[in-house]
Amino acid sequence: MNEPALVIIKPDGMSKGLVGGVLSKFAETSLRLVAMRTAQASRALAKEHYAHLRDKPFFNQIVSYLAGEYHQLKQLIAIVYYGRNAIRQCRQVAGVTNPEAAGPHTIRGAYGRITTDGLFENVVHVSSTPQEACREIKLWFSPEDIMVPLYPTRNIMVGGHKRKIWA
Ligand code: ADP
Repeated sequence: MNEPALVIIKPDGMSKGLVGGVLSKFAETSLRLVAMRTAQASRALAKEHYAHLRDKPFFNQIVSYLAGEYHQLKQLIAIVYYGRNAIRQCRQVAGVTNPEAAGPHTIRGAYGRITTDGLFENVVHVSSTPQEACREIKLWFSPEDIMVPLYPTRNIMVGGHKRKIWA
C-alpha cells in the first residue's frame, strides 16, 4: 500500500554539505518526492517533533540538535516521500539509529557519528510508523505543500482566498 514518510536532513547534514549525497541515496528507492521545504526549527517545534521521547535522558540534546544549536547552519530540510512501504524503504536507506551500528552503505553508517557527549548525530530523521508520519507531516507541512492528498483537510478563508488546512 502507498504511504508517506517524513524525512528530515538534520543540521549536521546541512552543515557538512551532505544534502546531495543524502538525496541520491533516497533517489535509489522507487519513492516519489511529494513535498520539500527548508526550515529552521524553533526549540518549541523541535520539542513537539520529539514529544514521544520527552522522558528519555537525551531529550534535551536532541531538541538542541534539531534546533541547530550544535551546528554552523541552524537549518534543516523536511521532505515527504510517498510510495509502497515508504517508511520501511526510507528507514533501510537511513540505517539504524546508532550510526556505529548502521551498515556502511546507509546514510547514518556512512555519515553519522557519536559525539563525545554521547549524542547520536545521525544526519537524518525518518518516521517510524504511519501514525508518527501523520503527526510529523502535519507538524511540518500544510496540505497545499504536498503533491498528493494524504489526510483530511478543510477550507478556510484567508484575506478573501480559500486555503486548505488539516481538518
Ligand atoms: P530514530 O531517529 O532512529 O527513529 P529515535 O526516534 O528513537 O530514533 O531517536 C530520535 C533521535 O535521538 C535519533 O535519531 C538520535 O539522533 C537520538 N538518539 C536516539 N537514541 C539515542 C541514544 N541512546 N543516545 C543518544 N542519542 C540518541
